[in-house]
Amino acid sequence: MSQNDNLFLSVKEVQNRIIRDVKAVDGMERVDLRRALGRILAEDVTATFNTPPCDNSAMDGYAFRSQDITGQANIRLKVIGQSFAGHPYSGRVASGEAIRIMTGAQVPADVDTVVMQEHTEKTDDNTIIINTVPRPFANVRKEGDDLTTGQTFLAKGKKLSPTDLAFLATQGIAEVTVKRNVRVAFFSTGDELRSIGQTLGEGEIFDSNRYSLYGLLKNQDIDIVDMGVIPDDRQAIETAFITASSVADAIITSGGVSVGEADFVKETLEKLGQINFWKIAMKPGKPLAFGTINNSLFFGLPGNPVSVIATFYQFVQPALKRIKGQDIVLPLFIQAKTTEFLKKSPGRTDFQRGILEQSESGELSVRSAGTQASHVLTAMSRANCFIVIPAESGSIEAGEMVDVQPFEGLTD
Ligand code: AMP
Ligand code: MG
Repeated sequence: MSQNDNLFLSVKEVQNRIIRDVKAVDGMERVDLRRALGRILAEDVTATFNTPPCDNSAMDGYAFRSQDITGQANIRLKVIGQSFAGHPYSGRVASGEAIRIMTGAQVPADVDTVVMQEHTEKTDDNTIIINTVPRPFANVRKEGDDLTTGQTFLAKGKKLSPTDLAFLATQGIAEVTVKRNVRVAFFSTGDELRSIGQTLGEGEIFDSNRYSLYGLLKNQDIDIVDMGVIPDDRQAIETAFITASSVADAIITSGGVSVGEADFVKETLEKLGQINFWKIAMKPGKPLAFGTINNSLFFGLPGNPVSVIATFYQFVQPALKRIKGQDIVLPLFIQAKTTEFLKKSPGRTDFQRGILEQSESGELSVRSAGTQASHVLTAMSRANCFIVIPAESGSIEAGEMVDVQPFEGLTD
C-alpha cells in the first residue's frame, strides 16, 4: 500500500481516514433488557402506544374542571370520589365537584386541572376550599407527553444507557436487537519484554502495554484475546498475526512499527496484510500502522506506554465504536486556563498530561501533571485530562486558554 516516509499526517486527517475505512459488524443478537445495557442498538425502536398512556396527576391534591376557576380565591368544591395510582375514578364529575387525586393517578375525562393539597383546606362536610387558585390545566401530565404511537424514540447506533433501559421499559419492551460483541486480539513484541511472574534479566522490562490495552478495551465492552508477548522471531510473529486474524475483528499490537526496528513486525505486516505505515504529527505517538490482515482490522501502536494510551483514545477508540456499530463520538474538548507555562515546540499536536480543576466559582484551570515523556507513566497516572496544543503552536504562557480533553467522558 502507498507509503510516504516524509509525510506527516495531522491527527484529524488520520481520524478521518480511519473512520472512513472502518465498517460496522453485520452480526446482531436479541438480548433481554438488562443484558442490553451498554450494547449498541442494531435497529430503530418505535413506540407502540402513547406514554404516559393516560392523563395523570403531577401532584397529590384535588382534580376539578378549569371552568370552575372564576378568578376569585376561596373556591368551594364538593369532593365526590377519589382516583389513586392504579385505582382510577370511573364516575362522572360535574361543575362544582372535585375528586381526591394522587400523583400518577388517572385524571378522569370530565376534569382537567389539579390543585395541590397544600393549597386547599378541607371542611367537615367533604368540601374543599381552594386558597391558592391554580392556572387552568395545571398539574396534569398529558397522555403522550413523552412518546406518541409510531414515534422512533431510540435510533440504531445508540449505546444503551441506564435511561434507555427505563425508556424501553415504559413501552413494555422486554428484548432488543443489538450488534454482536466485537472481539479484539492483542500482543506485544520486543525481545526486552517479560511478562509479570517472570524474572527480569539485564536490560529487560515488564510488558505493561498489555495491561493498559486490557483496561482500555474493557472500558469499551470489547471481548479480548490477550496473546501475550511474542518473541522477535519471524515465524512466531507471522503465526501470531495469522492466529489473531482468525479469531478477532481487530488486532492491536504495540511496539515494532517505528523506523529502525530490529524486529520482523513490519516485514510480516507487509507480507500478510494491506497496511499503511503513518507518521502522525502528534506527541506522544508518532508512528502508527493501520490496515487489514485478512478480514481483521489492524492497529500497530507505538511501543511507549503513554503513546499507546494517547493513540488508543484518538484513533483506536473511535474506530472500535465504528466497528461496534455505534454512533461515533470523537473526544470532547473544553477550554481551560493554564496556570503554568507549558513547554512546546511547533510541529506536532501535543497531548500533554494535565490536571484539570474547577474553582468554587466554576472557573476551569489546568496545569501539567508532571514530566511529559512518553515512557513516563507517573504523569499519565496522575493526570485527569489531555492538554491538547495545536501542531503550529509553540510554548504556552501561564494565563492563556488551552483546549483540554477530560478523561471522564473519553471512556464513554
Ligand atoms: P518500539 O516502538 O518497539 O521501538 O518501542 C518503543 C519503546 O517502548 C521502547 O522503549 C520499548 O521498550 C517500549 N515498549 C515496547 N513495548 C512495550 C510494552 N509492551 N510494555 C512496555 N514498554 C514497551
Ligand atoms: Mg520494539
